[in-house]
Amino acid sequence: MDYSFETGVYRPPSEGGSSSLLLRVTRNCPWNNCTFCGMYKGKRFSKRPPDEVKGDIDAIAGIARSLGAIPSDEPSIAPGKKTVESLLKEIPSLGSSIGLGMVLEWIHSGMKTAFLQDANSLIIETDELVEILLYLRKTFSSIERVTSYARARTLSKKSLEHLKAVKRAGLDRLHVGLETGDPELLKAVRKGVSHEDQVLAGTKAKEAGFQLSEYWMPGLGGKRFTKQHAENTAKALNIINPHYIRSRPFFPHPGTPLYLAVQKGEWPLLSPLEQLLELKEMIGHLQVTSKVCFDHAGNYWPGFKGRPVFKHSYEGYQFPEKKDHVLGLIEEGISVQKQIPSGPPPWLAR
Ligand code: SF4
Repeated sequence: MDYSFETGVYRPPSEGGSSSLLLRVTRNCPWNNCTFCGMYKGKRFSKRPPDEVKGDIDAIAGIARSLGAIPSDEPSIAPGKKTVESLLKEIPSLGSSIGLGMVLEWIHSGMKTAFLQDANSLIIETDELVEILLYLRKTFSSIERVTSYARARTLSKKSLEHLKAVKRAGLDRLHVGLETGDPELLKAVRKGVSHEDQVLAGTKAKEAGFQLSEYWMPGLGGKRFTKQHAENTAKALNIINPHYIRSRPFFPHPGTPLYLAVQKGEWPLLSPLEQLLELKEMIGHLQVTSKVCFDHAGNYWPGFKGRPVFKHSYEGYQFPEKKDHVLGLIEEGISVQKQIPSGPPPWLAR
């Protein structure tokens, strides 16, 4: 039995929280041009043939069967016969596989969720994606939710009919990096997608029946774009009205073009106080029924008594019911920041 399979590095934090199986259907990012992003820099994009991905599913199923986590038809594999130790003794190379720990954690947590890697699984041909999804669902009947990253540009170009076919085959949730709804800032950071495409992608994904998480990046435009970033991001999100709005504050990553621009003083960053004022502006304009989440350590602003302003929950705050509450939390952060006249951004303060 071949137990080898491939795993990528990245997945949304919420998929880590639910111990998702990471199944790599493409490698890296087909766009790879956003000036703020260092995730796949220097790495070539490629699609994986469905048979190769199905081979990975078989390998993972083989591990699950050997450990008795799923039933086996093979008489040589009695359920629960092997332990992780005996499996490692049999195939020592498994021990050096970065994916083994992930698979063991997934099995331990009940094999309920899976995440398709890497940056844009929707780019593969619809019939191939459908084939992979059906095979995954058939192999692991315990799976309740399958999710993936998707580029808005790709989503906007896919037909509704194709998106519905992918949804029917078993992909439930899409994670889309909106970053900003501001047309000028989208161009400046080379996101490769227009405001209109972002909106079309989001509304189409919802119409196809996907649960939709949109990620935005407070502080991305620095001092120059802050007002239009806040206003136009809210404008786009108000039309899309995704199920989740997730905040990922901008952090200049070494090795990226935007990091260099910051270093050279060409991209003046917001102070923590200005970040909160931008948040206040964006949240103030939001008219959605989404869950607004600050589920990442980058959302750190101290409140009273030094406790974080926001909870880092994956389910966040239900809008519009909690909108005033969130605005109140932002005010708390603002009043704390006003007592600290100037300081480093939150990611340096920790
Ligand atoms: S599309 Fe996503 S993964 Fe690709 S470069 Fe842009 S932010 Fe990074």
